[in-house]
Amino acid sequence: MIVLDAKILHSDHEIPQPWRMPALYLMGMASDANKTFYLETFGCQMNVHDSEKVVGTLVSEGYRQVSTVKEAGLILYNTCSIRDKAEQKVFHRLADYRKLQAQGKRFGVLGCVAQQEGEKIFERAPHVAMVCGSASYRNLAEMLVQIEAGNSRVTGLDDRQTDKCFETEFTSRLNPHRGYITIIEGCDKFCAYCVVPFTRGKERSRTSESVLAEARQMADLGYTEIQLLGQNVNSYADPSEIRTFAELLTAVGEVPGIKRVRFTTSHPRDFGRDIVEAIEGTPTLCDHVHLPVQSGATRVLEAMQRLYTRDEYLERIGWIKSAKREISITTDMIVGFPGETESEFEQTLTLLDEVGFDGVFGFKYSPRPNTPALRLNDAIPDGEKARRLAVVNERQREIQQRRNQRWLGQRIEVMVEGKNDARGQWIGRTSQNRVMNFTVPDGRDPAPGSYVTVVTTGSFPNSLIGQAEIPGEGEGSLSWTARK
Ligand code: SAM
Ligand code: SF4
Repeated sequence: MIVLDAKILHSDHEIPQPWRMPALYLMGMASDANKTFYLETFGCQMNVHDSEKVVGTLVSEGYRQVSTVKEAGLILYNTCSIRDKAEQKVFHRLADYRKLQAQGKRFGVLGCVAQQEGEKIFERAPHVAMVCGSASYRNLAEMLVQIEAGNSRVTGLDDRQTDKCFETEFTSRLNPHRGYITIIEGCDKFCAYCVVPFTRGKERSRTSESVLAEARQMADLGYTEIQLLGQNVNSYADPSEIRTFAELLTAVGEVPGIKRVRFTTSHPRDFGRDIVEAIEGTPTLCDHVHLPVQSGATRVLEAMQRLYTRDEYLERIGWIKSAKREISITTDMIVGFPGETESEFEQTLTLLDEVGFDGVFGFKYSPRPNTPALRLNDAIPDGEKARRLAVVNERQREIQQRRNQRWLGQRIEVMVEGKNDARGQWIGRTSQNRVMNFTVPDGRDPAPGSYVTVVTTGSFPNSLIGQAEIPGEGEGSLSWTARK
């Protein structure tokens, strides 16, 4: 596998990617000046990582990535269909740029909307020449040849069951210090509201040896943080039956040079105590679990087909909270699922208080094609969904304000992610996944990717602020260079 550095030009909602490479660049690859592409990415980290594979493949085929639609010969959108708004955004973009077809530009729709809508996209946006689902990216090189030959209807939609999607030959990673590895694709859970089982196909895991080989290769290249990805990362089932998910976590955490390991997303039904024990026993596993609950009411969870009750969810929270080191907990919440009563919504609010989450991604329920929830009555009006979401956000803001105050005066290790020049502050991330904005003593600027100890001097609901310790002056201060 060849790993290149490049930049993904746009990543949308969910967990933001604060890192941006300052320039696009190619390493050791000859590019044809006429073969240029622009790629915009929507959606979750899985899509961001898929885009890294797309960029790697295109660059290996002699294409050069550019930062504007104007400069590009090929315009690609890697799409998200989890909610209607994300899907509509893509069609608006395509409509905006339709006239550019006359200049010879070609358009391609990749990812979940491509898989969901298939060839219908050619009817709705006739200037689109390529429609390709995420499981077909290993065929991109052949598809590009067809586009270059003038084919205006190229598709890659039939690979949803393949496990070959893991072994993409080229990956162009966005960040030179922190990288993603997909360990499981697809989903078999079929939650009543969710389109993922239809767009990403059935659940299939990658062998633990192959995951470890990629982790070792990344460590050799200087990466110190690895994030293991999957729609339900903890439903992982090693095809070679060597390691459980918890054992894989530990093994990745023990790869020499790896300093931080994260994993997302965990499904509560498959969340076992062994994951907490792995975190306790392996210092490199980050102190953070993202465990989406969706609702605080057991009746709604049942209607959502989530496969656990409120009490079972709280039992797992109990395991995490009783760990030997403090683990931060974040979640996803859907408000306004069909039939959600005011008292069921209240149960979501009491769950927020009871757990004391460190972060909540709240969403208004969005009806999606093919999903069982479409058949449910009692739709909640959009205005009421918006009200409930605002109430969740406000309640959670107060909780985070309180929780973040506990860090005042404490020394925390952060990985340096970049600098906010306007504010004269550096941006770092703690093991618990909190953003720490910090200042440094004059002339002591830390290198991006290095680890720095920061003393917390202030807190907000979504971030901390602090001052970096001068190396050698604080208790056990850390080196300011990337640790290998
Ligand atoms: N597999 C993960 C799980 O089961 O928790 C979630 C993956 S999904 C890509 C990310 C989040 O999008 C979900 O946790 C849910 O909160 C939200 N989501 C999914 N479908 C939705 C829908 N139809 N309307 C609103 N939010 C939705
Ligand atoms: Fe969607 Fe449910 Fe699968 Fe998560 S577990 S990806 S919410 S169907």
